[in-house]
Amino acid sequence: MSKFIIKENRVGTLSLIDELTASEVQRECSKCHEVKLAEEFQKYIYGYLRPQCRVCFKKTTREYNRKSQLNRYIKNLNDRALNVGLEGDYTVEDYERLIKFSQGKCMLSGLPLGNDGQLDHLIPLNSLMVGSTASNLWIVHKRVNEKKWTRSIFEYLETEEGKQMIDCKRLKESMSFLADLAGFTLGEYVQLVADSEEISRKTRELFKQQK
Ligand SMILES: [Zn+2]
Repeated sequence: MSKFIIKENRVGTLSLIDELTASEVQRECSKCHEVKLAEEFQKYIYGYLRPQCRVCFKKTTREYNRKSQLNRYIKNLNDRALNVGLEGDYTVEDYERLIKFSQGKCMLSGLPLGNDGQLDHLIPLNSLMVGSTASNLWIVHKRVNEKKWTRSIFEYLETEEGKQMIDCKRLKESMSFLADLAGFTLGEYVQLVADSEEISRKTRELFKQQK
């Protein structure tokens, strides 16, 4: 008859060991703390079991990949702003707050985002006024973003397509949220956006004349 002993692992979890063969029969996962069969843990090359069960290990890796991808994405947003001399201080926390606010819907059209949400600068970087900062980034549906393209928000609102696409109530809610983050009233915020459009329009005209 085989005998089992209980061993405490370095990470503080327990394992059930077959005394005769000295092999691990069951193990407590360091993450979910469920006691599972040895087969439910992946083995390192030397035959040791990983501290986390396969299910938890997979989840942890996925979460890690998602976070590092997000960090890269945000760093890229900030770098693009910093490279043209603007502020670039967007953080993962800013992004998570935005996700919470958006509740899975486009902040411009109200369309369900699914996996097609994109961060977009409300005042474009090329207007050289506001950079990658919490009050200038919102999350919009990829399709809406592509259609709006380089047009500013009010320019887009004047087009037929924009009129159909934009949900004005949603736009107002979204802008109020962003205005709050900037410490502005909605009116002041809208004015800032409008001014930036005016400035970039004039700049474009100026460059056209010089050609
Ligand atoms: Zn587990």
